[in-house]
Amino acid sequence: MDWDEHVVAYFSTVKDGNISIKESLSKASGVGNRQTFFALNKIDLMRGVFCQQTHSDNIYVVEESDAGRGSVSFETGIPDTDALLTNIPGITLNILVADCVPILLYDPVKKAVGAVHAGWRGTMKLILKKTIIKMTAQYGCEQKDIVAEIGPSIGPDCFEVGEEVILAAKEVDLESFVIHRNGKAYFDLWESNKYQLIANGVKEENVKISGICSHCSSDYFSFRRDKNANRFAAGITIK
Ligand SMILES: [Zn+2]
Repeated sequence: MDWDEHVVAYFSTVKDGNISIKESLSKASGVGNRQTFFALNKIDLMRGVFCQQTHSDNIYVVEESDAGRGSVSFETGIPDTDALLTNIPGITLNILVADCVPILLYDPVKKAVGAVHAGWRGTMKLILKKTIIKMTAQYGCEQKDIVAEIGPSIGPDCFEVGEEVILAAKEVDLESFVIHRNGKAYFDLWESNKYQLIANGVKEENVKISGICSHCSSDYFSFRRDKNANRFAAGITIK
C-alpha cells in the first residue's frame, strides 16, 4: 500500500508463511517467518507490537515502553485487545488474520496510525467505529483526514452465516449487510466496516477495500478453507 512517504503499511501473504506464534506447534516457524518478513521489509521486529486478539472491542494505545511486546512470544502481547493505536515513529502495529478483516488507519496530518482486527464479532461490537472515536480523542485527529484500507479477508460471496450473526447484526443496525441468496445467508464484512467509517466522518474517497477474498485467494490464509492455525499479518508503522 502506498499512502505517503511517512508511513509503511503491509499485508503478508502465504508465501511469507504463517505469522502466528499462538499455538505451540507453529511457534518456532512463526518467529522465523516474522524475522524473515520484517527484515525483507526493513521493519524492526523488536519494535513491533502484537496483541492477544479475543474478538473484543478493546483498543490499546501503544507507548514506547510497549515496543517489542508479542514480537517473539505470544505471552508478552497486549492482552485481550483487538485494536492498536500509536503516534510513535518506528513502532509497527500488527494484527493477525485468516478470514477476519484487518483494517489499517492513518492520519497524515497528526501522524497517527491504527490497526484493527474485526471478525464478525468485532464488527458487531463496532470496533472500527470505536477506534476512529478513540483516534480523535487520543491524538486530536479529524475524521476527514483519516485514510483506511480494509484488507484481504473473507468476502461477501463466501461468508455464509447463521442465525447468530443475523441476530447480532440486527441489534446494531447492520442487518442491511446480510445478503440472502439461494436460501442461504451471507454477511458483508467489508461494506459493514466501510459503513462504520463513513457514518463516523471518514470520507468515502479515503476508504479502500482491497476486495481480495481470503477464502478464494491462495495468496492468503483462510481459516474456513484451511482449518488450521496459520495466520497472515497486517501492519502499519510511521517512519
Ligand atoms: Zn471468496
